[in-house]
Amino acid sequence: MMSTSTDKASIVAPTRELMASTVFDELGMERDSDNLYLQIIDSMLHAAEILEVPRHIQLILAQPKNEIMVHFPVLMDNGHYALFKGYRVQHNNALGPYKGGLRFHPHVGLDDVKALSALMTMKCSLVRIPMGGGKGGIKCDPRAMSQNELMRVTRRFVSAIAAQIGPDRDIPAPDVGTNAQVMAWFADTYMQISDKQNKMAVVTGKPVEFGGSLGREKATGQGVIDVLAEILPDIGLAFKDATCSVLGFGNVGSWAAKLFAERGGKVRAAMDHTGGVYNPDGLDVLALDEYVREHRGIAGFEKTRHGAEAISEEDFYRVPVDVFIPAALEQMITEEKASWLDCKLIAEAANAPMTPPGERALMARGVEILPAILCSAGGVTVSYFEWVQNRTNQSWDLEKVDDELNRHMVLAARRTQLARHRFGVDMRTAAYIAALEQIAQVYQLRGIFP
Ligand code: GLU
Repeated sequence: MMSTSTDKASIVAPTRELMASTVFDELGMERDSDNLYLQIIDSMLHAAEILEVPRHIQLILAQPKNEIMVHFPVLMDNGHYALFKGYRVQHNNALGPYKGGLRFHPHVGLDDVKALSALMTMKCSLVRIPMGGGKGGIKCDPRAMSQNELMRVTRRFVSAIAAQIGPDRDIPAPDVGTNAQVMAWFADTYMQISDKQNKMAVVTGKPVEFGGSLGREKATGQGVIDVLAEILPDIGLAFKDATCSVLGFGNVGSWAAKLFAERGGKVRAAMDHTGGVYNPDGLDVLALDEYVREHRGIAGFEKTRHGAEAISEEDFYRVPVDVFIPAALEQMITEEKASWLDCKLIAEAANAPMTPPGERALMARGVEILPAILCSAGGVTVSYFEWVQNRTNQSWDLEKVDDELNRHMVLAARRTQLARHRFGVDMRTAAYIAALEQIAQVYQLRGIFP
């Protein structure tokens, strides 16, 4: 049982030197503290050293198993052909098939996809689902494309990587810029061209009508709330008295906000790439959600008479709240933005939302950080349930999905707390340790072929 306290005195600020591991030297990896991939591998290796994970396993985990890059042409609506670049990085499959999202974004690049695939290995292991880590992406701007163009880009990408994915090999899912419709095109294309069994299980996050799972759409946001429900009492808070602000109002941010409010908490501020809104007594998040779906962004919500006022970026970060929930892109919380934050707890709903200097500044101030591999693992957990349902021809009801998700999230939170106290480390290092325990044990059992 977790009877531990997370009061400020118990927060362990990192004093270690960054990128100290000699694994970087052995693999000839240049130390670049601005590189997201190296930052994540550094955190992982730091945890691995504390746990005394054998050196050969550290080497294996420091590099992805496969880095697939493809270029493919697509006919655009204006009659011209555009050439796209796509990625699928398969980081590790010691626990099961590679698993992780597919991102459509103008800034998708190899190092970021590598970083996100390594995080997936850690996430799956931490919640103890039998899956490895992968991530993919296409460098494109989905907002600037028609539905038909998006469909052709998706289908052509699937055909380019079909030999490397599959229901027993690598199972993509939604991520930034993709949704259930994209997953439906993905599954349909694979089903046309592959002769594998259980073809529908090649991808998760599909529409409920076409092989998707109930509860998958809200799962990442729900997982954040499940973790908070476990941790908030440790800092003497209950949802009904708690306040939060949310950065990013896409699938994850909007669900986290709605579920936070549903539990009785107040969402004081929200911001996305279009603008920010504020209400000290709590935003009407259902109205905001509807507005954002219709207007593709938060900007202008203050004019709708739902009692919100517009807020600048700096003021958004400065709003005093108990919990700050970053649910947008990576690396958004720089040292400067960290200095503006006025919160007790950060629940990382997005992958790697903080720069290392931002993180250090917050920890030095005693802010508790619940890391992404814990907080944002709800999505992949319900993806795993979808995969199980597809393969066994079952359809779980929402209650079962929610219960199973809650069980996985609560156990992952407890595992993390336990590692934190056993090793006297911060929550991020503890989460990596709790994830690595499982992977190291499985490598030990399996050995290395031949
Ligand atoms: N893209 C999500 C993540 O980063 C979900 C992955 C999945 O469902 O496989 O965790």
